[in-house]
Formats: sequence, C-alpha cells, structure tokens
Amino acid sequence: MPSHVIDAALARRLKLVGLDVDGVLTDNGVYIGMVGDHPVEFKRFHIQDGIGVRMLRSAGLTVVWVSGRESAATALRARELGVDELIQDPTARKLPAFEALLARRGLTWEDCAFVGDDLADLPLLTRVGLPIAVANGVAEVKAAARVVTSVPGGQGAVREVAELILQARGEWEGLLTKYFVERGDAPHGAHRPR
Ligand SMILES: [Mg+2]
Repeated sequence: MPSHVIDAALARRLKLVGLDVDGVLTDNGVYIGMVGDHPVEFKRFHIQDGIGVRMLRSAGLTVVWVSGRESAATALRARELGVDELIQDPTARKLPAFEALLARRGLTWEDCAFVGDDLADLPLLTRVGLPIAVANGVAEVKAAARVVTSVPGGQGAVREVAELILQARGEWEGLLTKYFVERGDAPHGAHRPR
C-alpha cells in the first residue's frame, strides 16, 4: 500500500531522481497549433516544481527527465532548470534508454527514484529502488509505487517529491538556509529557516 512517507534509509541511498515529463511535470495537456506554416507545441510547467528540481540538484542528486515524446517545449524547460540529462525517446520505450543511462553513470537501479503517471513508466517503476506515482497516475502505476503524491502532475507534484525525499534524508532545512543565503535575500523573524 503506497504511503506519503519515504523511508530514510531508502532516501539516503538515492543518487538519481528520474522524472517522466507529461503528466508528472505537466497536467498531461499539450497545446498544438500552427504559427504561419510552422506547427507549434506549448506545455504548462509548474514554477514550484522548478525549485524542487533545483533543490534536488543542490543536494547532489542527479535529475534526469525521461519522456516518450519529442518536444521543444520540454527541452526548453529542462535547459532552463539545468536538468542533468533529458532523454526524449520518440518510440516511448524508456527501459533501453534508462539502462544506457545507468551504465553511462555507473549506477544501479537501487540508486534511483522514478516518478511516473502512465503505463510507459512501469518498466522503470518496477525496477527502481524508489518508485513514485503522481496523484493522477493510472491504477497500475499507483499499484507499483511505494509513494503516491497528494497533488497531481503539473500542480506541484515534483516539488512535493523533492521535499519528501530531502526531508527523509534530513537535508531540507539545510537546503532552505542555503537557498536564501545564496540569494542574499533571507526572510525575517518567524519565517526565517533554521
Ligand atoms: Mg506521462
């Protein structure tokens, strides 16, 4: 039965967090149209997820996006956030791409968390050390997950995942302090992070 709590030992073992894109970093919607003679595609990303991705990377975790769809919008957002790797496999076969990623980086399945919402994510979710489903995930994905987020993809689910993992590792508070110190923009009084 999936929960909202991540085991500390499991979280501390993680070296890489893999994220599906559509339905996890977005609400699964894609706006498709034409500008002049050019087909264009827009997606809506959640800004709070962006800080979640930055926090995971700040903690030394590798963040990889794995999409079964090629999209310039996804590539733009991944670049903006400094994601370590973006894998876009137009055949939507995520297993060979992820196996190659592990070999390239010298990692094992146990070192990884993966967040998914649909059937194409199952080959990864059933192998990683920490499988996570978003609240809008299909039943099969939720059944394979150890953790299900309380909010759906595109509405801050990745921020929730980042916070759950970093809280379980005991690193969240320290990262908050680092975040404000680096910005030189610390809150005052009761809202000041410890
Ligand atoms: Mg998806």
